[in-house]
Amino acid sequence: MSAVMVVALVDALGWTLAARVPGFAPALPHRRRLDTVLGFSSGALPTIFTGRMPAEHGRWLMYRRAAGGASPFRGFGATRLLPGRVRRGPRLARLLSRVVAARGVRGYFHLYEVPRERLPFFDLPERRDPFAPGGLPGGALWETLESRGVTWRAWTWRTPEAEAVEALLASVARGRERFLFLYTADLDARLHREGSQGAGVRRALEGYAALAGREIEAGRRAGREVWFYLLSDHGMVDVTRTVDVAAALAATGTRAPRDYEVFLDSTFARFWWRAPAARRAVEAALAALPGGRWLDDAALAREGCLFVDRAYGESVWLADPGALIVPSFMGRAPLAAMHGYDPAHPDMAAGLWSNRPVPEAVRHLRDVRAHLEAELDALPAGAA
Ligand SMILES: [Zn+2]
Repeated sequence: MSAVMVVALVDALGWTLAARVPGFAPALPHRRRLDTVLGFSSGALPTIFTGRMPAEHGRWLMYRRAAGGASPFRGFGATRLLPGRVRRGPRLARLLSRVVAARGVRGYFHLYEVPRERLPFFDLPERRDPFAPGGLPGGALWETLESRGVTWRAWTWRTPEAEAVEALLASVARGRERFLFLYTADLDARLHREGSQGAGVRRALEGYAALAGREIEAGRRAGREVWFYLLSDHGMVDVTRTVDVAAALAATGTRAPRDYEVFLDSTFARFWWRAPAARRAVEAALAALPGGRWLDDAALAREGCLFVDRAYGESVWLADPGALIVPSFMGRAPLAAMHGYDPAHPDMAAGLWSNRPVPEAVRHLRDVRAHLEAELDALPAGAA
């Protein structure tokens, strides 16, 4: 009998979240908690696909400092001349996003609430599609598929989830490919809105749990064995409090861009310094601010996120699990749940659920690529 590998990567399907659903995914008896990486999907997905840590593959957070005038946002500084209402409005965001795409950015990006006039300082590391060959520095799982001549297909965030699931089922039944991959960020969005106890979250979890059974059954009817890997990149922590970093910065009397450049992610405050006195004032103020802590070089190195060129920040402050930076460049309103916390927090862990044995060595996102490639080696060719 021929066989097909099906990898369903569900963003934010946390290990502890799935464990709360009684009898989660009975078709997938082999399961393993996976440690995630510090940061968001922009760093975690490349680690899954390459088997390397962020400092090695170069992708960490969505925004980093632009080097040598290479910003895809060049010229956007002129937006400072617009009235605030226009500058923060959706029409300008759509226009600027189209300009960025026209400048060749093929990866996922969103302008969120990043002050438009400050965008030229920043760069989008994800210029190419990380779900395709050539998308990630140093190669990834996709290049392995190509070099081994494996027929494969992938559906990403570009295809609505329901449509992608149907297309995946149809492909399993048709039997032309040996490797099928689906990525969905729907659960991630739902968790941000509803939190881990949300009714929609519960229904979505049941859907993902049932997906494996449907795929395996579709394969059986078509005379194909389905090797199924339900996978995630990180978990999610319910938000219990907000922390106003912007107010703490304002209280020091320092400001951007005169004294520093700053990027406020949902859980990170990152700085590139211009004035030493301002740096000392900000370091003291945020050290005293409840709800987070500075990450020194040793801490960043331990997480595989110490970048020699400091492109992602010369100083990095991280919110405690459950604390959300509000307002941030990602949003002005609080959310029910967030990730991007210390990977050691239990709710941050990702997972792998499979109907194939998971070797002991698979413990971390960076172990997934080698596991999937070993499975490819073991996959019976059969008559396709
Ligand atoms: Zn998210």
